[in-house]
Amino acid sequence: MSGPFLFKISLMKINNKKDLRNYTLEEFQKLITSIGQKPFRAKQLYGWVYKRRAVSIDEMTELSLSLRERLKEDSFFIGSPKLLKQLTSKDGTVKLLLGLPDDVRIECVLIPDEKRLTLCLSSQAGCSLECEFCMTGTMGAGRNLTLSELAGQFIIANDLIEDGLIEGHKRISNIVMMGMGEPFLNYNNVMRFLGVLTDDNGLGIGPRKVTVSTSGIVPKIKMFGEDHGGASLAVSLNATTDEVRSRLMPINDKYPLNKLIAALRAYPLKKREAITIEYVLIKDVNDTPDDARRLVKLLGGIKVKINLIPFNPYPGSVLKRPDERRVFTFQKILLDKKLVAVRRDSRGADVGAACGQLKGEG
Ligand code: SF4
Repeated sequence: MSGPFLFKISLMKINNKKDLRNYTLEEFQKLITSIGQKPFRAKQLYGWVYKRRAVSIDEMTELSLSLRERLKEDSFFIGSPKLLKQLTSKDGTVKLLLGLPDDVRIECVLIPDEKRLTLCLSSQAGCSLECEFCMTGTMGAGRNLTLSELAGQFIIANDLIEDGLIEGHKRISNIVMMGMGEPFLNYNNVMRFLGVLTDDNGLGIGPRKVTVSTSGIVPKIKMFGEDHGGASLAVSLNATTDEVRSRLMPINDKYPLNKLIAALRAYPLKKREAITIEYVLIKDVNDTPDDARRLVKLLGGIKVKINLIPFNPYPGSVLKRPDERRVFTFQKILLDKKLVAVRRDSRGADVGAACGQLKGEG
């Protein structure tokens, strides 16, 4: 095949405006009006794309034939990532490796437990923030995922679950945006996606079942406090001094602890809500009793629940996992001060699906 021909195909494939999974309801309303169709068609189209998860325009039989023909004539299509590989951990966690039209690869992870089935989604292909404990950070900036690619991860995972992939689980119950990338650096698409995700006529997940995790992009924490629509906020904190945090998470140079903590203090929370604080425990770096005591002080007066996650070493990392006694002592100091602190052992480490292990390699 000639070069120009290949080029044409790849342009077609990444023309996001033609991918119907890149539209919110409001955007469908504008599109439908712009092609001279009746406004109620927008809601029908939206329902077919997200709630009924159509894979082709021909399937949307409720739409008039003329509208279907028009959409096809205008080269609209329903985009989807390709499932390249699925890896099941001995603890039941399943990692999905997905391919995007521009040959970029991303991962999402299904994490079953007794009552819940959580899907951990990626927000970017790669990440520019270079956190020292995270393998995704070694990939470099990559690019933002589109609404279609965010929704596509959910739809592929959901289809596999409906087909019986994980025994005892018939549906995805919870969503966490803690996979590859920093969601708040892809704020616009992530918020459009959350709108579709939590809409009954969209993907239909209750907003309270959704958590978005940030490394601490302070201005966006404030915006999320106004825009979240019921989804929860998690913050990856991981240190109690600027020196250690800047080493582990260079973003701390831009948004140091005093600014981050002030943003959390000002974050609007309803009665039973709390901010999740993620704290990856790393041997001799941030796991001492002094660190635990500083953490108590730092978070004093803020409604938080703290997840303590012993570090998962990955190939090439110089960081180590703390021993069990250290983890226990750290947690006890927090509990003694009446903080909610839960130890979370990251799941799926044997298939590279654990926290900080996603690298788009399968
Ligand atoms: S922990 Fe999150 S923000 Fe940090 S490098 Fe990894 S993906 Fe990026």
